[in-house]
Amino acid sequence: MSGRILVVDDVATNRVVLRAKLAEAFYDVLQAEDGETALAVARRDRPDIVLLDAVMPGLDGFAVCARLKADPATRHIPVVMLTAELDSAARLRGLEAGADDFLAKPVADQALFARVRNLLREKTIVDELRLRAQTCRALGLEEDAAPAPVAGRPAAVQIVKADGIPASAAALRRLLTERVDVVDARAALSGRTPSARPDLVLIGMDPGRKAAALDLLSELRARPATRHSAFILIVPDGDIATAAAALDLGANDYVFAGSDPHELAVRVRSQIRRKRYSDRLRASVQDGLRLAVIDPLTGLYNRRYALTHLNRIALRAAETGKIFTLMLLDIDRFKQINDRFGHMAGDAVLAEVAARLRDNLRGEDLLSRHGGEEFMAALPDTGLDAARIAAERLRKTVAATPFRLPGVEMPFPVTLSVGVALGHPGRDEVTTLLREADSALYASKSGGRNLVRFAASAA
Ligand code: GH3
Ligand code: MG
Ligand code: MG
Repeated sequence: MSGRILVVDDVATNRVVLRAKLAEAFYDVLQAEDGETALAVARRDRPDIVLLDAVMPGLDGFAVCARLKADPATRHIPVVMLTAELDSAARLRGLEAGADDFLAKPVADQALFARVRNLLREKTIVDELRLRAQTCRALGLEEDAAPAPVAGRPAAVQIVKADGIPASAAALRRLLTERVDVVDARAALSGRTPSARPDLVLIGMDPGRKAAALDLLSELRARPATRHSAFILIVPDGDIATAAAALDLGANDYVFAGSDPHELAVRVRSQIRRKRYSDRLRASVQDGLRLAVIDPLTGLYNRRYALTHLNRIALRAAETGKIFTLMLLDIDRFKQINDRFGHMAGDAVLAEVAARLRDNLRGEDLLSRHGGEEFMAALPDTGLDAARIAAERLRKTVAATPFRLPGVEMPFPVTLSVGVALGHPGRDEVTTLLREADSALYASKSGGRNLVRFAASAA
């Protein structure tokens, strides 16, 4: 996962060191030597993350952070503040200015990279939701640009017990207006908890049972009821390795067990705010718009939505300079399935193919029903090698396991043919790409079906 990172520091050597580390990990690095420049670069170049020195002459890091978070154009960009002295007053001040995290200078690689990966992952998801909400507006499916009203339900925080957690629970109850429930790991896993869909889950960690807490995080992260919840882990003081592991497993944030309860409260509040923002975006895509943009048989986006969205993916690729992949996937000899087993069986095949394809794509990929038995997939930030792997995976997920059809005794083999084209930023028109993918699809049909073929321009 690559991303664009803005490094802000008044000391040139600090910038050079960070720049070298990040560039080595294949991130694009932008630099600014003072606060004013940082604001201008952030507005113009839209970095994915800002690493911001707290202490600078002129506009300091706290002021820059507050200004970034006040501007709708830059508000969604995560900010990590870098500071030499990590006293809790400075941390609180930064968090209150909207910073997403703090790292101590000189920055330890493990802490830096785990945090960068975590923030990029979250930002990818929010960016995609923002894009989808824009597409809905462009289609005229949403009356006004205001986000859907906040769900009336008060936010709920669920604390999973561990040694020392009861103390934080009492402190949190005093500091938060949200409802706070304390449960044990067993109750959290069984789902028999006071609130079924907590906005935030705070997982405590007994120093002797760190792996159990990390397992619990992975498990809850995968469950429907808590998939969209925010997660904060409480890790033993100074244990950066465990904190990094937690972030990589999908935690949104962590705090050290001994830190100031005020800091925990600020982090909880900021995670709840972010979670509710994505909830609203998600709801604005779903509510009411579903019928207009979703194909009822397969539950996929329909062609009308997908073509509009595809144009946005192409525009964004032009901005970010990243290649995207377009695939057309057509079921082989589908007419024969209808003829042999009836239209109902044909419908069941369409739904099952859609489900298998969806399960094999990433959240940021767009899958749609393009026509009768033809599907379209658009994969942002995906070049030739990754496209090859993805297309083969999709072909195989259908071909590998025969389908069980309603009213038909024997499982029945189904295959599809795939045509792939690559969209080069700013070069390729969406209509050209669709034509190329279509020719490639035709080539895989005439080549014998159950094949992946690339457009001539891609190979
Ligand atoms: P090829 O391998 O060349 O793609 O052959 P094919 O039979 O899949 O392609 P063709 O385009 O000849 O036939 C597609 C069939 O799909 C014709 C149409 O009746 C059927 N079809 C389209 N939409 C639906 C649907 O919603 N449900 C069902 N059951 N069939 C559909
Ligand atoms: Mg077909
Ligand atoms: Mg067809």
